[in-house]
Amino acid sequence: MIGVERRKTNKLMVGEVGVGGDSPISVQSMTNTDTRDIDATVNQIKRLEEVKCDIVRVAVTDMEAAKAIKEIKKRINIPIIADVQFDYRLAIESVKNGVDGLRINPGNIGSNNRVKEVVKACKERGISIRVGVNSGSISKEMLKKYNGVNEDSIVFSCMENIRILEDMDFRDIKISLKASDVILTIKSYKKMAELVDYPFHIGITEAGPVWNGTVKSAVGIGSLLAMGIGDTIRVSLTGDPVEEVKVGKEILRSLNLIKEGPQIVSCPTCARTQIDLIKLVEEAQRKLEKIDKNIKVAIMGCAVNGPGEAKEADIGIAGGKGCGLIFKKGEIIKKVQEEKLLDELISEIEKL
Ligand code: SF4
Repeated sequence: MIGVERRKTNKLMVGEVGVGGDSPISVQSMTNTDTRDIDATVNQIKRLEEVKCDIVRVAVTDMEAAKAIKEIKKRINIPIIADVQFDYRLAIESVKNGVDGLRINPGNIGSNNRVKEVVKACKERGISIRVGVNSGSISKEMLKKYNGVNEDSIVFSCMENIRILEDMDFRDIKISLKASDVILTIKSYKKMAELVDYPFHIGITEAGPVWNGTVKSAVGIGSLLAMGIGDTIRVSLTGDPVEEVKVGKEILRSLNLIKEGPQIVSCPTCARTQIDLIKLVEEAQRKLEKIDKNIKVAIMGCAVNGPGEAKEADIGIAGGKGCGLIFKKGEIIKKVQEEKLLDELISEIEKL
């Protein structure tokens, strides 16, 4: 990103995907199927793969779910992380069944011996652990010490969990510190960034329904990334996980952190617009999703300002009355009837 130096961190691997260090920032999501329903879970992961999800997480709620990972893994192409709460046996079973990463808090597992068993299993297979605290899971001691929920209680509660792993000489750790409050999340990650070199999984937890959650996540995740903080991201939305990945990718794209696929630039329309630009942009978006080219496509309402305002776009259209212009890098190349405009644009894009 222009002018932003990324925070230096250790690097770890989640399957084939690097997290931290010089690895590209990855986008994760989590399935909302019953992990024991292998077909449903695989189908959802396949849909996530189609929108280029880098890592997927599944909830492991019992032994059957832990064992299902083996079959799920055979049928998918992206790394899979097991999300385990409290029961260390589920973590170990998930590792045995080939999971690529674990999300578990050592402080919730119980005795040191149990944590040691999980750590041993992870070390043997080179598996990383995400340690995370969110505003609802701060330890009682830290809540008391720091007078309630704030960045100090979140960060130092997480440090308690990190220390348990470090004391066992385990350092393949990534950290998450999520709150549904954007400012609190940002303050927490900033504080933690001063204390450790572990990579960060960032996101705004319980961000809400798709529209509101998208805005909230873009503000929170985008602010952190613009400060150089964040190595893997997850957008949490109450909706289809596919939307989470699309939003995550768009956040990275808007900060020039990835150049995957076409980026649409379109004008807000005004009294000069004489074509149905909103419909045109919606249709173009659907068609462009299937095109695998790193290009900027402008869709502008008028020929007066359109081509000029979108000069930096690789290709674009500018609406007129019943017709439109197709331009490349600000230069007009042809005039087309309105009803043929989109097809013509796509055919020109295919030639690029
Ligand atoms: Fe209005 Fe033309 Fe600008 Fe679109 S590009 S907002 S139609 S002036």
